[in-house]
This record gives sequence, structure tokens and C-alpha cells, in this order.
Amino acid sequence: MEEPMSKQSGPMKQQSGRERFFPGMADQLWNDWRWQYRHRVREVEELARLLPFDPQELETLRAFKDDLHLAVTPYCLSLIDPDDPADPIRRQVVPSTLEFEEQERCSRDPLGEEAHTPVGGIVHKYPDRALFIATNICPAYCRYCTRRRKWLEKRRPKTLNQLDAMISYVRETPSIRDVLFSGGDPFSLSLPIFSHCLKALDAIPHVEIIRIATRYPVVLPQRFDEELLKVLSGYSSLWMVTHFNHPNELTAESAAACRKVLRAGIPVNNQSVLLRGVNDNVETMLKLCRGLLKIGVRPYYLFQCDPVQGAEHLRTSVWTGVKIIEKMRGFTSGLAVPTFVVDTEGGGKVPLNSNYCLQSNGDSLLLRNYEGKLFRYRNPPP
Ligand SMILES: *Cc1c(COP(=O)(O)O)cnc(C)c1O
Ligand code: SF4
Repeated sequence: MEEPMSKQSGPMKQQSGRERFFPGMADQLWNDWRWQYRHRVREVEELARLLPFDPQELETLRAFKDDLHLAVTPYCLSLIDPDDPADPIRRQVVPSTLEFEEQERCSRDPLGEEAHTPVGGIVHKYPDRALFIATNICPAYCRYCTRRRKWLEKRRPKTLNQLDAMISYVRETPSIRDVLFSGGDPFSLSLPIFSHCLKALDAIPHVEIIRIATRYPVVLPQRFDEELLKVLSGYSSLWMVTHFNHPNELTAESAAACRKVLRAGIPVNNQSVLLRGVNDNVETMLKLCRGLLKIGVRPYYLFQCDPVQGAEHLRTSVWTGVKIIEKMRGFTSGLAVPTFVVDTEGGGKVPLNSNYCLQSNGDSLLLRNYEGKLFRYRNPPP
């Protein structure tokens, strides 16, 4: 099927990267998700053949080679500009020696998830919704991942028995009306296993919606083949949540993946993580969020990066996030503006926002608009 042309087809960045890293690669292989998956770069030596490294940095990474938990798909690699050591995609997926510095104030489990795990694989913090973590495998490993602790476990999906125990927990807990497949990436499961979970969860009367959080559209968009789409289109309860962090990730391929999912009747939202040197300024975030709207994806959350051991160098102040949102709200489509949230240890997400109500005196409010102009507003009694 022909994809509708994007209104303004920007420079196809990944095309040049593809030629550079994988010259003469046939489309048939490049577009085959299995080929992409099998040819993920897993070793620092292989990466060093493709991207330049500072010699000292490379020496240290070699010393830690068994603990790097490195994976980058050829497609994702093709988005990286090798001449830019600060490339925003590179910063997200290529390990840094800074990860191995002792970070005393960081945690292995910064959100206190283990304490809210009634059954292995379930995180149940909020009354009416629960996370369903079916695997610890991802197509690419994001260096800032909150669940880096899961990388230390052997890489494998949950067994069928474990998955069935997770499904039973949801079935026996009638307060849960929203189940979120969360990372490791659910589309890393074999299709029959994924389909089994989906079918079982969808059949539970109190489960009203199922969300699938995935980074496949960003790092391996070829995954959305007819076989997968056929499974997904069987459920009216589904939502998908993507994880784009930078406008360079918006390519013809990632747009096509999102379009296919939308056409299957599944709404698509996006969650970004605020990352130092990647997207921590208003220009980048505006370009990302407007670009997402153009491909039918609604920016949902912007997360403060969690204080997870190994990611401190990618974190920035929460006020950076608040200011970015303040400079978006009112200046562009409200649909393009995500909610900025900080996740607490055990207490869930807290939204942080600029203050727009400067005074409240009886029935009189003093409000500030996006341009900083002040307005009196008469507030009727409750
Ligand atoms: C983020 C999260 C959810 C979903 O929260 P929403 O605000 O509904 O998107 C559910 N459970 C846990 C543990 C979470 O971290
Ligand atoms: S895709 Fe999600 S779970 Fe996987 S490494 Fe990235 S942030 Fe972590």
C-alpha cells in the first residue's frame, strides 16, 4: 500500500547513513525486520569500526565490554551522524564511560517498583491500572532506561507460566481497568506469545483498555509487518504509546509504522524523556512535537529522566522541563504540548507546571497568559 506523502518531506537523513554504514544493502534485507534484529550491533568492537571514538573512551569501554548491555539496530545506527560526537541519537544508544562512575545518589530502582510488584512482571501502584512487563529484551537499549536493573537479569522473556500468573493477577484484581505493556519491549515477544497475552487480557471483563508502550517505531519500524498488524487490528481496546525523543527519529519509515497502526484503529500517543544534550531545549522539543502531530501521534508525557544508576550524565534540572513546556504552551497547538511529569520513588507521577494563577482574592483571580500579560478573572463560588 502507498503511504500518503508527508506534507513536507524533509531531508531523508537515514538514507545517507544507510549508504555510509551498509553500502549496497538490498532494500529487501534492509526492510526485513528479522534482518534488522539479527544484525543489531552488540559489541563495542563492531561499533568502533562504524563510529569514531575517543581513544581513552574506547579503552575504558573495552574494559567494561561484558557489562555494556549494548544493542543498536542497523536502522537506528543509520540515523547517527558519525562526524558528530554529540549526535542526539548516539547519546541515547551508545554507551558512555560516565555510566560506570559511581553515582551515590542514584538508585537501581529509582521508582521503587520492586516494592509494588505483587507478582513478578506486574507493577501495581495506581488503583485502576497496572504495568505488565513481559520481557526484558529491547531492540535497542536506551542508556537512560529506568529499568536498567532488568538488564542485569539474563535476557529472556517471561515463561508462559510466569505470564499466566501475571494474567491471573489482573483477572483476580477487579480494580484494574487499564493494563500497560511496558518495557522491555512487548514487540520483542514472539508473536504467538504476545497474542496469547493480549487475547487473555482482552477477555477479562474489567479490563477496559490495553496500552502497548514500545520503541519499535523509533528504532526498528520495519517490525510493523502485515502479520503483526493483523494481530493488533483484532482488538478495539488497544492504545499504542511510542517513545520518540528527537526530531531526527521522525523518518519516512517511522511515520509509515505509526500510520499503519493508526489505520488499524489504534490511537498512538508518545512519551519522551527529557535528556541533557538530546532534547533539553525548546527548539528541539517544538520540532519533535509538531513533527509527531504531522504523523498522527499525540505528545502525551515528557518525563524527567529518573535518577537511575548510570544515567546521571543524561539528566538535567526539572526547571529545564518546566521552562520548555512554558515556551510551548500557547505558542503552538495545544495538541503538541505534552504534560511534564516527574516520577517519584513509589508515589507515582507528579506533574510540574509554571504557575499561571498569580493571586486569588475572594472571587478575584489574577491570571497570567502565555505572553506574560495579566488578566483579572471573576471566579464564581463553587
Ligand atoms: C506511568 C505509570 C502508569 C500509567 O500512568 P498514566 O498517568 O495513566 O499514564 C501506571 N502504572 C505505573 C506504575 C506507572 O509508572
Ligand atoms: S525501550 Fe524502554 S525498556 Fe527498553 S531500554 Fe529503552 S527505555 Fe528501557
